[in-house]
Amino acid sequence: MNLLKNKIEDEGVVLSGTVLKVDSFLNHQVDPELMMEIGKEFARRFKDLGITKVLTIESSGIAPGVMAALQLNVPLVFARKRKSLTLSEGVITSKVYSYTKQEENTISVSSKYIGENDRVLLVDDFLANGQAALGLIDLVKQAGANVAGIGIVIEKSFQDGGKLVRETGYRVESLAEIQSLENGKVTFKQEGARV
Ligand code: 5GP
Repeated sequence: MNLLKNKIEDEGVVLSGTVLKVDSFLNHQVDPELMMEIGKEFARRFKDLGITKVLTIESSGIAPGVMAALQLNVPLVFARKRKSLTLSEGVITSKVYSYTKQEENTISVSSKYIGENDRVLLVDDFLANGQAALGLIDLVKQAGANVAGIGIVIEKSFQDGGKLVRETGYRVESLAEIQSLENGKVTFKQEGARV
């Protein structure tokens, strides 16, 4: 998706060779027009799959997730990372280890909003080591629902997540695939190439 790649080239900041900071349009300040285009692109790639819900994780998945949900005309559900006082009965949980933050989070969702009749599109901002996506897959399975696909805004192809998540057999679509962040420079993977 060229609009997204141009934005990453113009505004992305490479931290430490493995982490990309995109605070100006995705992770802190949010560019609504870009999010709308991202939502349209996810909807285009995952249409005709009978999707009934979009599921993401708070907080950075919410902006692209809600735009995908708007375009697919279904609700967005976001898994919570913190315990909610109001979320008590029928809570499904999964443990997710974040290598970026070096901490384990218990993510949760209410069984009221994901159930056995749902076909769920998972959306997240980044795919790095794959733990967040695998945690979301686990929540959907525990709810007795089906995963219809996984939509990622930025995949870091030099990390293991893409391989791990694709091994589950679910379709993964990433809108920008980064091959390397070496020497402070973003290098995108050639379209269609597989690492
Ligand atoms: P994973 O579970 O695939 O290792 O990591 C996914 C989560 O870690 C994403 O939801 C994202 O919040 C965060 N993350 C991983 N890598 C990066 C990165 O390079 N930049 C930013 N901003 N977040 C990242």
